[in-house]
Amino acid sequence: MNDSRPQVGFPLEALSKARHRVNEASNIVILSHIRPDGDAVGSVLGLGLSLQQAGKTVQMILLDGLPGSFRHLPGADQVRTSVEMPYDMAIIVDCSDLERIGEALQPGTVPDLNIDHHATNLNFAQINLVDDKAVSTTAILTELLPHFGLDITAPVASALLTGLITDSLGFRTPGMSSNALRLAADLTDAGADLPALYYLALTRRSFESARLWGTGLANLTREDGLVWTSISLAERKAIHYPGLDDADLVNMLPTIDGVKIAVIFLEQPDGRVKISWRSKQGYDISDLALQYGGGGHKNAAGASLDGPFNSVKERVLASTRNVLNTPIPAS
Ligand code: 5GP
Ligand code: MN
Repeated sequence: MNDSRPQVGFPLEALSKARHRVNEASNIVILSHIRPDGDAVGSVLGLGLSLQQAGKTVQMILLDGLPGSFRHLPGADQVRTSVEMPYDMAIIVDCSDLERIGEALQPGTVPDLNIDHHATNLNFAQINLVDDKAVSTTAILTELLPHFGLDITAPVASALLTGLITDSLGFRTPGMSSNALRLAADLTDAGADLPALYYLALTRRSFESARLWGTGLANLTREDGLVWTSISLAERKAIHYPGLDDADLVNMLPTIDGVKIAVIFLEQPDGRVKISWRSKQGYDISDLALQYGGGGHKNAAGASLDGPFNSVKERVLASTRNVLNTPIPAS
């Protein structure tokens, strides 16, 4: 790495404790959040594969399993949905609170290390390396791994670059920086195939997901700077969309002219309602998500609430209007 670049910006004591703990451990479990996205998957696989190369035994855990759209990544077949063996170190990546790893660890467990970039991170581990300026958790890992003495080989680089391009929506979120571009370049130099990974993670879509967009777009409603839409279980069934997510529709909504905040409501089979917010700069929706028991970033956050579907929509839209009416001053 070029010495003039910003170096890992964490307190030295936390960094050296983390490095020491990683070096000492031999059986490491790595976990990330439910409904994993590209950054959760890329962080688990990138860190997991690099630790394996260093001779560690590694369990890579995603409670909901690996989404089909990331099966092309190296190490994908090693991901499990529960912890199967004893371990001497637990690392949580890209996860703002322990609720989001469900019952994967014994109740009361305080994980050893928490590596994340969510502004709403609760610093729940013994050592917390949280940087909310980082564009993705995998961007943090790209700087951390060499610091821990771990190699970024081509498979590791592919996983890490996938997290960086998905969380930055293809290098275009406000968190993008020249440093993030340099990290992406480093990962490309390390053997990650940028156009192929970009296509597989961001551009490719199934016929059913295109039809899910059709339903979501047909239900779209606008009110001043706010747009929202919803997809019910019945609608999802009618088009045979296999997942419970929004096929990334929410990330398209803020590209509509005049939109300051976008919200999508997804009815879930357990009666809960998954909510995703997106906002333009100047509108911080992370506190609102936190108030509803969720979390996220200033411009991308989510939560899950108990139904009924229609009353959740009304309640959440009312409090989202309040955020729209109180923009944060430009800093
Ligand atoms: P999405 O709306 O795409 O699910 O997530 C947007 C951002 O908010 C992501 O960084 C995601 O991790 C976070 N997020 C989404 N849902 C929840 C939730 O229920 N709890 C917490 N803590 N974070 C969430
Ligand atoms: Mn992330």
